[in-house]
Amino acid sequence: MKWIEEELHEIEKTSLKRRLRETVPIVDKPGFIARGGRTLLNLSSNDYLGLAQHPGIVEAMRDSLLIEGAGAGASRLVTGNRKPYALLEEAIAEWQRSGKALVFANGYMANIGVISAIVNRYDAVFSDQLNHASIVDGIILSRAEHARYRHNDMEHLRYLLNKHRNKRRKLIVTDSVFSMDGDQAPLHELAKLKQEYNAILMVDEAHSGGIYGLYGEGLSHVLGLKHMVDIHVGTFSKAFGMYGAYVCASDTLVNLLVNKARSFIYSTALPPAVVTGIRKALDYVVRESWRRERLFELSSSFRSSLCEAGFKVGDGDSPIIPLILGENDTALRFSHALEEEGIAAVAIRPPTVPKGTARIRFSLSAALTPIEVRDAVLKISKVGHQLGVLK
Ligand SMILES: *Cc1c(COP(=O)(O)O)cnc(C)c1O
Repeated sequence: MKWIEEELHEIEKTSLKRRLRETVPIVDKPGFIARGGRTLLNLSSNDYLGLAQHPGIVEAMRDSLLIEGAGAGASRLVTGNRKPYALLEEAIAEWQRSGKALVFANGYMANIGVISAIVNRYDAVFSDQLNHASIVDGIILSRAEHARYRHNDMEHLRYLLNKHRNKRRKLIVTDSVFSMDGDQAPLHELAKLKQEYNAILMVDEAHSGGIYGLYGEGLSHVLGLKHMVDIHVGTFSKAFGMYGAYVCASDTLVNLLVNKARSFIYSTALPPAVVTGIRKALDYVVRESWRRERLFELSSSFRSSLCEAGFKVGDGDSPIIPLILGENDTALRFSHALEEEGIAAVAIRPPTVPKGTARIRFSLSAALTPIEVRDAVLKISKVGHQLGVLK
């Protein structure tokens, strides 16, 4: 068993060791967390709309616990299909103006379940190089040809579509907003190519659901492309501040998923109280557009202040703002120095991002205030000078 220590040592040597750290929420200060007894401004959360501590959601969950009990007791196809599921799926389908919605336990399971249910070794999946790991794992699990195209490179995608023209089914899959870069997929071009090559288009709106659109329906809605997206995946773990995921598609496709998506079939249903909590969260997502407005204001001022300070950050309007530092060790030291300043901002390293692009991935939340964000930029600049990232 010596290999275990050897592998861990290898990971440590390249500054790639990951460690679990206990994190305590601060209920009356949702933009903050406590670590090691210290309160830190949280710039590494996906709770974009600041809903994770919402008392209304907690209350709905508590009420539901008293009716439904703690666990569902079985998978949905056995005896776990409780009433909150139907209520949530109807509400999601209505929100998305979609044929049908299906709830999965989480986004990871939704992606692996959907992809492996609809393609197999006779097929090809065309997938952006920066797509989320759960999409990659779904493709591997499906045994379909994995045609990876360079990030957002439509010429390369077209080349691969031609190359695999004779495959039985062709699935194009992309994140709508890329999780580690915050940039957007060229959905108009993808929709055109999907039509031209008679492919299926699947869009993972994990980082745009709840955020883009008048009611937070997602990026493909804002771009008027909803009808071009065959499979829309979103999570409840980010902007909803909850846990779980949804897939929206035609009636028939959802029917197929119920029969073939193994991560749906062979896994216990989410606790009903969680499902009830998600439905409450959906109410806030739809109704409280001030959360989106605030999030965009904060993101925009954070991004432009970092640029003014001399940092190079990606543009766009998403709340994901990466500060690419390159070396793993630099990213780690940057993160540690920020923690000394009272900011939680985690270093993201390979294999989550490509080699040589280690970064601090800042993500903002409507739970923060303009003053907190302004103060954070000053501290980030200070650390930038300390570490020689800023000259
Ligand atoms: C977070 C994420 C997932 C996984 O969602 P979970 O609900 O956390 O399992 C899937 N796809 C993308 C693009 C993500 O960012």
